[in-house]
Amino acid sequence: MSSTEGKVIKCKAAVAWEAGKPLVIEEVEVAPPQAMEVRLKILFTSLCHTDVYFWEAKGQTPLFPRIFGHEAAGIVESVGEGVTELKPGDHVLPVFTGECKECRHCKSEESNMCDLLRINTERGVMLSDGKSRFSINGKPIYHFVGTSTFSEYTVVHVGCVAKINPEAPLDKVCVLSCGISTGLGATLNVAKPPKGSTVAIFGLGAVGLAAAEGARIAGASRIIGIDLNPKRFEEAKKFGVTEFVNPKDHDKPVQQVIAEMTDGGVDRSVECTGNFNAMISAFECVHDGWGVAVLVGVPSKDDSFKTHPMNVLNERTLKGTFFGNFKPRTDLPSVVERYMKKELELEKFITHEVTFSEINNAFDLMLSGASLRCIIRMEG
Ligand code: NAD
Ligand code: ZN
Repeated sequence: MSSTEGKVIKCKAAVAWEAGKPLVIEEVEVAPPQAMEVRLKILFTSLCHTDVYFWEAKGQTPLFPRIFGHEAAGIVESVGEGVTELKPGDHVLPVFTGECKECRHCKSEESNMCDLLRINTERGVMLSDGKSRFSINGKPIYHFVGTSTFSEYTVVHVGCVAKINPEAPLDKVCVLSCGISTGLGATLNVAKPPKGSTVAIFGLGAVGLAAAEGARIAGASRIIGIDLNPKRFEEAKKFGVTEFVNPKDHDKPVQQVIAEMTDGGVDRSVECTGNFNAMISAFECVHDGWGVAVLVGVPSKDDSFKTHPMNVLNERTLKGTFFGNFKPRTDLPSVVERYMKKELELEKFITHEVTFSEINNAFDLMLSGASLRCIIRMEG
């Protein structure tokens, strides 16, 4: 039994008091885990676009004060009642979407949209009692997507925790708890490009580059990267992207440019921008008869897009995915193993590292487009 088990822990957390304002490192109280919950000591967390997006409050309801963070790695500190799969000391990745293993989605081989624990950006409290486990002087601080990893300790539902190989370096595999697995899975699990295919990737951030990595692993012969930021092209060469298109360089729609480059369209496309115009382009640039487009980017609240129904009738398929269709508890340990076996390289995604007290720098690096992934080291 650890000395902190069953007790409130006082620790540092980066609190977002208001939308778009720098986070403030505060001393928070973290309550012990309740039934089916675990309390984690976070060692490394990284910043993902989705944190920035909800911090800017472009998403649905702004919920503040809140502790953001969902890409992370840590160690189980204590477990609540009913938790049998995890014990203190286990190495884990918390995940923003869960797997209860009981519902019809968890029982389906096709879905990872768990009825109980699927991503919910509007909920700032724990499921069991509708309360937050974080507080400052008795005032509750909201959770974010059930993970809130910008804190030295956090409480997470057991269904949102993947137990991983204890040998895996946590400062590297932390990026697998969201963005990199999402992009990789979007290609390998959802787009499924046959060997030799041509794949277009819209958006060459960490998620898009992970999708490109998936295309490389699948044996794609051409990987076309599309981005508005030309700085991303140099970096993307390391990820097997073979050709580049900047929509700004053309006066016709990018889907037309791609169709001309590929004799009618690509076999697969994966959209990783969150921009709805890019979503239309990603769909319309796939070849008729067999093309499949996969949407990954998170759109803004009021976005919608239109396309002529004939584009669908002509046997193009549009799909979307959360977390690359991976079931967090069942599948994530094997993605970590891919890294351990050197099939998947994570180092090239990690462009920056900061200490916890410098967490706002990670936001600046992402907003300016300078970083792919910035690791935030919680200790030392
Ligand atoms: P990022 O900001 O690092 O990368 C996005 C890239 O898209 C940038 O390089 C930007 O220049 C480019 N871009 C923007 N608009 C474009 C356009 N119209 N055409 C071409 N390129 C354009 O972000 P990221 O961390 O790589 O995440 C990418 C997206 O994936 C975000 O929307 C994020 O919220 C989303 N996401 C989704 C899931 C999921 O499970 N579905 C998980 C993680 C992230
Ligand atoms: Zn479920």
